[in-house]
Amino acid sequence: MEITWLGTAGFRIQTRNLDFLIDPYISRNARARPIQPLTPENLRPVSHVFLSHGHFDHAADLPRIRPGNLYCSKSLGPGLIRQGLSPDSLTLVDRDGWEKDVDGVKARAFFSRHIRFDPRLVLSRIKGILPEFLPCFKLFLAWPCGRVLSWRFVLENKTIHFFGSGGSKRQELERIAREGPLDLLMIPLQGHSNIHKIALEYVRILKPGAVIPHHFDNFFPPVSRQEDLSSFVEELGREFPETRLFLPRMNRPIPF
Ligand SMILES: [Zn+2]
Repeated sequence: MEITWLGTAGFRIQTRNLDFLIDPYISRNARARPIQPLTPENLRPVSHVFLSHGHFDHAADLPRIRPGNLYCSKSLGPGLIRQGLSPDSLTLVDRDGWEKDVDGVKARAFFSRHIRFDPRLVLSRIKGILPEFLPCFKLFLAWPCGRVLSWRFVLENKTIHFFGSGGSKRQELERIAREGPLDLLMIPLQGHSNIHKIALEYVRILKPGAVIPHHFDNFFPPVSRQEDLSSFVEELGREFPETRLFLPRMNRPIPF
C-alpha cells in the first residue's frame, strides 16, 4: 500500500482494492507552510473518507471534496448536513468498537478524546491570534469537535491505527493495545506544549512496529506553528530503536 500525507492530519491510503482519505484538510490559508498546491477539488472523486473529529482543520474541506461515503461520529451528522454534505453519504458511528468491511478493508472506530490545549500553548499563540481573533473564532464555531474517534484499519494483512487528536486516556490506549499487534501508529504532534512526551506515551502503550507523526506543520498561522519534532525523534530512537519512523513529506507517497 501507499500512504500519502496531505498536510495537517490528512492522509490518502491506497491499497490494491481501495483508495481512501482520513481527515483531509488541504485548503489551509495563504501563510500556511509547507504550501499545498492541491485543492480539495483535485482530490475528487473520493469514495471513502474517515473522520476523527469535526474541527475545521480536519473537516472543513469535506463540502468541496464531496466524498461518496463519509464515516464520522453520530454527533457530527446534523452539522455536516448543514455544511452541505449529502445525508446519503454519511455513515454515523454511534458506538465504541463500531466495525465495517469497506471493500476488503476492515475499519473499526473507537471512542477517543481531544487533546486539552494547555495554558502555555494558548498563551504562546494568543498574541498572534488577537488581530485575527474573530475569523479564527468563527471557524472554531462553524466546525465543532463532536465526539472524537480513532480509526483502526486492517488492510493487506497489516494493522494501522490513526489518531486525529492526542487526548487519549491511558485506559483507552490500554484497551486498544489489547486488540492485538499494531504495525503502524499515526499520531498527531499538535495541541500541547508537551506533545512529544504525550506521543511517546502512545508508543509505549501501543508498541507499534512503525510510527508516522503528523499534524506538526504550520497549517493555519497564527492558530498553528511548525512543531519541532527533534526531541520526539531523538527519544523515540533511544527508547524504541526497533520502531521504524517515517517522517512524512507532503504529497510524497510512503510505501508500506
Ligand atoms: Zn481538533
